Amino acid sequence: MSFRATKPPRAVLSVLALGGVFAALAPAAKAGTGRELPSRFMAAPFSLMSLTIGYPNDGFQLRAKKLKNSDSLKVKDASKDNIYAHPALVLMLERSAKEVARFEKGSLMVVGDLSRRDGGPLSGHVSHQSGRDADVGFYLRDAAGHPVVREHFTPFEPNGHSRWESGVYFDDYRNWLLLRSWVTDTRAGLVHIFVSSGLRWRLIEYGRKDPRFARYVDDVAVLLKQPAGRSVHDDHFHVRIACPDNQEDLCQNESRLGG
Ligand SMILES: [Zn+2]
Repeated sequence: MSFRATKPPRAVLSVLALGGVFAALAPAAKAGTGRELPSRFMAAPFSLMSLTIGYPNDGFQLRAKKLKNSDSLKVKDASKDNIYAHPALVLMLERSAKEVARFEKGSLMVVGDLSRRDGGPLSGHVSHQSGRDADVGFYLRDAAGHPVVREHFTPFEPNGHSRWESGVYFDDYRNWLLLRSWVTDTRAGLVHIFVSSGLRWRLIEYGRKDPRFARYVDDVAVLLKQPAGRSVHDDHFHVRIACPDNQEDLCQNESRLGG
């Protein structure tokens, strides 16, 4: 199935709501034609915008923004080809890394995969296809409370101890600075922060006891969740933003069931 700009099917938008159609669209878009989109999305202003198309687990993107390294943000070497996403997500990550570093000097956010430049299936992930998902490493500390940076994502027990390295701990305070930044960032449209249920409870408990964070706990608790079934997310946060307001016809907020 394909959509041609010259002869768009009348019911194209309702067809787009059917599962599976995005997989059929993706190859042509990856070739750079983009012609298979409904004609409305091929004209300005959409032809100039970053578009997120399909489902998180069955979709692609066009004209995505690239995430850049900075003093406060480091992309994992293994992820350097997979750091493209909708600008709302890229800018949110950049703002939050800066904010944590503003409160705790020298803090470095380690970021893993977003999406490939044109999206589509990404090795090692089910979602991350449409430019609305990103993996963000936890902030770590040593026994004295000093920041520790690791290039790899480090898994943690619910008690905050690294599963891999003795003397490395989950940095509750700086991870909360990050959560506070995300939950107060109304521009991005954040809808999920996936994390293991053990670390979720740890963060909620910590937040309730700390007057700097207590007022944000209810909002954070709604966003934090362990995804059903698949990976437990005990070594990174996985954040997802909502579909952009003007792209609801193209973009599906949640993953396709059975995908
Ligand atoms: Zn992820």
